Amino acid sequence: MPHLHEFYIDGRWTSALSTQEHTLIDATTENAFGTVRLAGRDDVDAAVMAAKRAFPAWSTSDPAERIALIKRIQEIYAARIEDMARAISQEMGAPIELARTRQAPAALRHMTNFLSAMEGFDFIRPLGPHAPDDRILMQPIGVVGLITPWNWPMSQVALKVVPALLAGCTMVLKPSELAPLSSALLAEIIHQAGALAGVFNLIQGDGVTAGARMVEHPDISMISFTGSTRAGASIIKGAADTFKRVALELGGKGANLIFADADEHAVERGVRQCFINSGQNCNAPTRMLVERSVYGHAVEKAAQAARSMTVGASAEEGSHMGPVISERQFDHVQSLIETGIREGGRLVAGGAGRSKGLNRGYFVQPTVFADISNDMTIARDEIFGPVLSIIPFTDEEEAIAIANDTDYGLTNYVQSADGARRNRMARRLQAGMVEMNGMARGAGAPFGGVRHSGGAREGGVWGLEEFLTVKSVSGWGT
Ligand code: NAD
Repeated sequence: MPHLHEFYIDGRWTSALSTQEHTLIDATTENAFGTVRLAGRDDVDAAVMAAKRAFPAWSTSDPAERIALIKRIQEIYAARIEDMARAISQEMGAPIELARTRQAPAALRHMTNFLSAMEGFDFIRPLGPHAPDDRILMQPIGVVGLITPWNWPMSQVALKVVPALLAGCTMVLKPSELAPLSSALLAEIIHQAGALAGVFNLIQGDGVTAGARMVEHPDISMISFTGSTRAGASIIKGAADTFKRVALELGGKGANLIFADADEHAVERGVRQCFINSGQNCNAPTRMLVERSVYGHAVEKAAQAARSMTVGASAEEGSHMGPVISERQFDHVQSLIETGIREGGRLVAGGAGRSKGLNRGYFVQPTVFADISNDMTIARDEIFGPVLSIIPFTDEEEAIAIANDTDYGLTNYVQSADGARRNRMARRLQAGMVEMNGMARGAGAPFGGVRHSGGAREGGVWGLEEFLTVKSVSGWGT
């Protein structure tokens, strides 16, 4: 049973000063499987001090040294990928196959993509031929505080730690208190890779104490946060007095526009994308908007796709859907399913209560509602569980109006054989990302949203620039 009572500070594992603990619960069995100490103010301050001390050397290091560090981390991470997959599956309940094929390797992919982004990345740039003595210096912003959620734990952590290291920042990482194992393993890997003491520091803790202390800390220059919109709003306010840069990756309520000329797999693909990781994805296409002429057929197909999904234990091999992370999340999803029924949604698959044959664990049934109108609660709130809402539309104008009628703006989706129409939709959808006809966005494409989804951009060149400041210099010596 893991007891995480130490934090990685200044190049060593250090006993937590705080005695507050959080009990880790297995989402499949509902049994406790370990504890994690929750950092107090003093723990956070010690980690920030270490990062501050390490900043002068790391921020002025040769980028080649930073690239070499990431390559060593990548090598060690690849060798320990099975341990990482098991840690992720245990802490947040992803079925082991999903953890092996998607969750754990995501970090390796991000490392590869950031290493590519570094090729040809200029930390010193000319302003232009009209000002030959000017230079634009792209400099590390300082000590950064990285706060991450539990749903894709290593993917989110890598999207912050890797570019921050490459940019020359020093850092304090605070992963979700619900998913501490994978980050503890990453700290071991970074240590083994030989990072300078103090460059990377890990504390475990919750948002109210450790997260809030990081946000207000005068020696942290930037908070990079991924998590809920509610916490994002509190972070913007908390960071105001110290004028920190705040980069936010928040929730979503993605629309998936399915036109009558969409390919025959579009509906099933949309259902699977909505339910992967038990629906716990910020970019999930949770609102399926279907053109009326094919609506009845699409509802039937979506219901069938949901009914054909199996649900089972995290440790079991196979491509089934696992539990949601916690009792709290289970109750939240259940109450939204009940609200959907009460507000008049037509339930065509799944529903309230545990999946059939399971009498323990946080197993939500793959659930599909049809005839949803966009003002119903389940079309507006981020559910973060395997619940799909299907909404009919008549024409492009109505589809755009419904899709954009949300506070969020992370990823939207379009399915149509008509390229000109797809491009029209891509321009008009209010979102940070638009994915069309099931094509994944390319390596190094920026991930991020607009409005209540936050405005950060992670991945590729944009993800590196998030951690840099722009200094404008004249009279540069040549
Ligand atoms: P959460 O906001 O509850 O917690 C996220 C992290 O923030 C945790 O580490 C938590 O301890 C910390 N935290 C919470 N309140 C805080 C505060 N006031 N100050 C500082 N830190 C605080 O979110 P969660 O439940 O862990 O994750 C699910 C949410 O994350 C969903 O809303 C999802 O859409 C979002 N998410 C967004 C993206 C993205 O890239 N846009 C990716 C994954 C998840």
